[in-house]
Amino acid sequence: MVSEPYSHSLNPMTNHLIEYLLSPHENSSNTFLKLQNGDSISFLEFNQQINRIANYLIDKGLQPGDRLALQAGKSWQSLAIYLATVKAGGVFLPLNSAYTVNEISYFLDDAKPKHFVCDPAVSGEFESITQSAGCELISINADGSGELSDTVSNFSGQFVAIPRSPDDLAAILYTSGTTGRSKGAMLSHKNLWSNAKTLCDVWRFSSQDTLLHALPVFHTHGLFVATNTCLVAGASMIFLPRFSIDEVLPHLPKATTMMGVPTFYTRLLDTAEFNRNLVGHIRLFISGSAPLLAETHIQFEARTGHKILERYGMTETNMNTSNPYEGDRRAGTVGLPLPGTSVRVVSPDTGEALAVGDIGSIEVKGDNVFEGYLEMPEKTAEEFTADGYFITGDLGMLSEDGYLTIVGRGKDLIISGGFNIYPKEIELILDEIEGVDESAVIGVPHSDFGEGVVAVLVGKNGPTKEQVLSHIRDKIARFKQPKDIIFLDELPRNTMGKVQKNLLREQFKSILLN
Ligand code: AMP
Repeated sequence: MVSEPYSHSLNPMTNHLIEYLLSPHENSSNTFLKLQNGDSISFLEFNQQINRIANYLIDKGLQPGDRLALQAGKSWQSLAIYLATVKAGGVFLPLNSAYTVNEISYFLDDAKPKHFVCDPAVSGEFESITQSAGCELISINADGSGELSDTVSNFSGQFVAIPRSPDDLAAILYTSGTTGRSKGAMLSHKNLWSNAKTLCDVWRFSSQDTLLHALPVFHTHGLFVATNTCLVAGASMIFLPRFSIDEVLPHLPKATTMMGVPTFYTRLLDTAEFNRNLVGHIRLFISGSAPLLAETHIQFEARTGHKILERYGMTETNMNTSNPYEGDRRAGTVGLPLPGTSVRVVSPDTGEALAVGDIGSIEVKGDNVFEGYLEMPEKTAEEFTADGYFITGDLGMLSEDGYLTIVGRGKDLIISGGFNIYPKEIELILDEIEGVDESAVIGVPHSDFGEGVVAVLVGKNGPTKEQVLSHIRDKIARFKQPKDIIFLDELPRNTMGKVQKNLLREQFKSILLN
């Protein structure tokens, strides 16, 4: 079947996400994606595939504002489905490929997508739930081949974007939900294009760049920070299915930039062959999604001559701060507010702005900040202040010259005997100890103090408990010192490299009670 292109015209003043991401390069024969198998996809080919999928979705009855959920492997077709959904006026809802059938059922029930694109290996499990919800199942194999790709090849490669206004939704991303159930963060066209444009400017992306992309594409980092920024710039991406040293090392010399979670950088440093010669062509390494230890920053510079640029953002807000491209990239900080984003640190009790150096709740405001949580108006209202700032849930402090340092999630704060204890302060001291590779400090129930401090340490040939305690004894107040120390082979982390302290708290919840 061949369908004719739809005859809507895109008003250039609508501020449609597609105007920023695709229109400037839609006819370019320059390479957009370099795939692992050696194939290249040009901007023109990518755009034509997007158009075919958009025509197919419209043919299937997708209406403006309808949602399309996708749980699939990382393939270039997944990126094309994202942009085709948005181009066809829909709302894209990517789901972590590790989610189980049970978890996916919750998301489908919550978000009520019109279409659910997933692997044929699991589609059978969703038949009844999608049927009763009026949601159509479409299948795509992990490598992007299969039903959807076969069918869309019969559709036209021309499509004019369905007009949307800047505040209309382009995507819904579920938060990782380390406490309670995940919430759907509603992101508008403006949220996404404004952030992509800003990042392109502040990180100096251009059509000369090649980004090494080894992140998943169901999360804000790989999908929006990496992909949207490259699209705005007309830059190309070496598109790898995952981060593995064997796949990344041979591609590094061909890249000009890399974005990663801190684990990427620690794994590179753990690799003897990783040296200056491999990164001679790279102009910028960027890190985010979890804290980059100052030690990693320093070691990376010593090994490669590059100062990693650390930035801070979240699913709900896109990116908020970044260390400067030119200027002081300060280890252990997440830099300065991005242009157009206002960042403040306030007292969690009174909401008053705090003095330089005082730790408090981080709040942000700007075009980058989301529209609210799906079907949760009360929760949304709770998370915004009366003057429109989003309460991030992170704790941090500002320096005299405006650099933000994150000290942890608010929920990780430990309150012991009425005193506030910031885990990061203790972790930094523990990490200095010879033989400790990394640490996670948590609060667990304590019969006297409410909560007590427990340190979880990783490190082969690590120190004894006594050595740890003697190292820390004179360095911090007694009430902050760990009441117990646990040694593990590794810390539990999610796919974005974040330490899952909630799992540690659960595992060791009884350790101080007897
Ligand atoms: P997500 O919504 O999965 O992107 O997670 C957002 C959270 O990750 C933030 O609220 C922070 O707690 C954390 N995060 C992101 N970037 C950084 C960073 N550079 N340093 C420390 N924490 C970070």
